[in-house]
Amino acid sequence: MPTTISRIIQALEPSATMAMAAKARELKAAGRTVYDLSLGEPDFNTPEHICQAAIDAMHAGHTHYTVASGIPELKQAVVEQYAQRHGLEYQPAQVTVANGAKHALHNAFTVLLDPGDEVIIPAPYWVSYAELVKLTGAVPVIVETRQDDDFRLTPEQFRGAVTDRTKMLLLCSPSNPTGSMYTPEQLGELADIAIQRDLLVVADEIYEHLVYPGHTFASFATVRPGLPERTILVNGVSKTYAMTGWRIGWTLAPAHVASAMGSLQSQQTSNPCSISQHAAVAALRGPQTCVADMLAEFVRRRAYVIERIAGIPGLSCAEMAGAFYAFINIRDHLGRQYGGVRVDDSAGWCLELLAQRGVATVMGSAFGSEGYARISFATSLDNLKAAFDEIAAFVE
Ligand code: PMP
Ligand code: GLU
Repeated sequence: MPTTISRIIQALEPSATMAMAAKARELKAAGRTVYDLSLGEPDFNTPEHICQAAIDAMHAGHTHYTVASGIPELKQAVVEQYAQRHGLEYQPAQVTVANGAKHALHNAFTVLLDPGDEVIIPAPYWVSYAELVKLTGAVPVIVETRQDDDFRLTPEQFRGAVTDRTKMLLLCSPSNPTGSMYTPEQLGELADIAIQRDLLVVADEIYEHLVYPGHTFASFATVRPGLPERTILVNGVSKTYAMTGWRIGWTLAPAHVASAMGSLQSQQTSNPCSISQHAAVAALRGPQTCVADMLAEFVRRRAYVIERIAGIPGLSCAEMAGAFYAFINIRDHLGRQYGGVRVDDSAGWCLELLAQRGVATVMGSAFGSEGYARISFATSLDNLKAAFDEIAAFVE
């Protein structure tokens, strides 16, 4: 058949986070009450001064193609933020602005991986990592971390997974889906192995601004000298400034890698939206009180979520240091009946919870870890309260 889908795309799993959110929307449209804890996106509107900057950009005529890899003002603003926050000395030529961090990750994998290269991905991992790696013909090597280790890859686990074909380690700290974060010392131990085995590290730091009191974030590139030469930092405005729909993310990389990603983008998408890029400049350069305000609300929600999980027999989660997810251990509640339906795995549990109680979550299996369900608490306390009442009734 001429319309046969390519082998590589046939093997692609659609994004489970997006799929659960779509299911929740469908049920809502059909008139059901749905508490949607599926998608990880801030429920806040983009701050007004950022929206105004987009309007101003349109009126100023910034409605044309830009340089494919991003406007100089945004690259400069990114570099300055890294210098101020982390003391890292990047040049604007090392920044590639993409259509969101997801696209930035795909670009990085595409320009760095050859078929057969191995990429070590600690599980639970964010749903898109393994699939994007597979699109390049490279091989994801999944290493299961333990809840008792706060879902952090240990140096022993890392060392044990490295082979002659290993090219890259993928780290997400603070983590989607677990909220766990590495300390600078823990990152340093992983960095030592990466240096010793001459490996690249892709560090997804998109949740760096969403870190809870008592925890301190360190950028991977800072924990040992020379790391920027073997590190791709991934970040963006989606989570920090409630700008998921604007589609702006970026990488900081060695200049020749940034240049390769720019070339790829010039053939593939051209520039990210010109107006969104100007809005992102306003986000980075403008007042940061909006970030603190949103974080304060997440602090309240996190405390509430921890309390509710602890209060439901048989559920547990590791303490969240950052991001806005809880990765709930549901093992004690598998292998039993729910309203006459037997549920043996996380997919079944999440689908029945949605069908029977109207609460949308995402199955742990989508993140490479069976026996868990992820909730996003980027939603109002009222919603969280109603959702947890339903979850409690569901497992009772
Ligand atoms: N990395 C992680 C860990 C994420 O949770 C997300 C959320 N979508 C992304 C990357 C992609 O973000 P963006 O919206 O900028 O594509
Ligand atoms: N990162 C968010 C999540 O994990 C948004 C959805 C996505 O990009 O997959 O829910």
